[in-house]
Amino acid sequence: MRTIHEIMEESGAAIAVAGHVNPDGDCVGSCVGLFLYLKKNYPEKQITLFLEQPKDALMSIKGAENLHTEIPENYNADLLFLCDVSTEDRIGAAGSLLHTAAHSVCIDHHVSNPGFADENEIRPDASSCAEVLCGLLEKERMDADIAAALYTGIVHDSGVFAYSCTSPATMRAVADLMEFQIPFQHIIEDSFYSRTEVQNRVLGFALEKMELSENKKVVFSSLSIMEQIRYHAKLSDLDAIVSQLRLTKDAEAAVFLYETKPGVWKASLRSCDYLDVAAVASEFGGGGHVRAAGCTLEGRYDLVRARIMSAVLMALRKAEA
Ligand code: 5GP
Ligand code: MN
Repeated sequence: MRTIHEIMEESGAAIAVAGHVNPDGDCVGSCVGLFLYLKKNYPEKQITLFLEQPKDALMSIKGAENLHTEIPENYNADLLFLCDVSTEDRIGAAGSLLHTAAHSVCIDHHVSNPGFADENEIRPDASSCAEVLCGLLEKERMDADIAAALYTGIVHDSGVFAYSCTSPATMRAVADLMEFQIPFQHIIEDSFYSRTEVQNRVLGFALEKMELSENKKVVFSSLSIMEQIRYHAKLSDLDAIVSQLRLTKDAEAAVFLYETKPGVWKASLRSCDYLDVAAVASEFGGGGHVRAAGCTLEGRYDLVRARIMSAVLMALRKAEA
């Protein structure tokens, strides 16, 4: 990929920055960080941020208040930046822009990203899209708000620098961001660890009903639409559940199924040491990372559950053979 500066210099004035469906901390942090950087350094251009509404904890990222959840009528982009978007069909609020924008650039860290944009910077060895951006943006042209947004992105995808995707390069990028005197303890507490009452209650319910496979290696739980309604939970209130399931002692993998529309189930998959959950997700048309992946299945709950659990157990048997 050319440098961000080269790309910006050669582009028309209408620039869009966008992320993926149901945006997580890395997606919001990366999009906001890039948006603020472009606004600061290219004041002559019109930069617009398109994102689906994230959960409230991520709206604490300064700059997120600029997001648009819908494309205005007659809007078209000369240049579209996509952050943390692994496949074409996962572009969130700016979906239709990919084919109408004069030029598209995707910055990402998913192994499964096929490189669908005109220009792509995909670094599967990076913890997060925000870490990839740290390598692309010039430090001298950043400020504290940009640094805080990127820091938030890294914190979320690395699980506060604890997941195996964290590398020495991650920590060097983080050290550079900390030079901007960002309030890192508040970022970690408020955007990552803090949970609303609804989020804690629905987490408690999902943990209460969790089940273990016979060999105790796979932890499973699920939430139907009716159960989500009972707890007043939105989809964005469910994203910490699978990480907690994964922490069950001696388990290698966690599977969390949640119904997004009647009969449509999203599976969130996590593993600890050796199971490649991206490979399992890809059997169902999904993808992600080796230790965190997802896919969508349709049909009756008991059948969906049996399909995903047998795929995970089969992959586990192969990995252990
Ligand atoms: P989560 O379980 O948190 O929704 O997703 C975990 C990881 O898998 C994220 O990096 C996400 O981008 C990826 N992922 C989740 N669902 C899908 C999917 O349906 N398709 C693809 N390609 N990736 C997914
Ligand atoms: Mn990410």
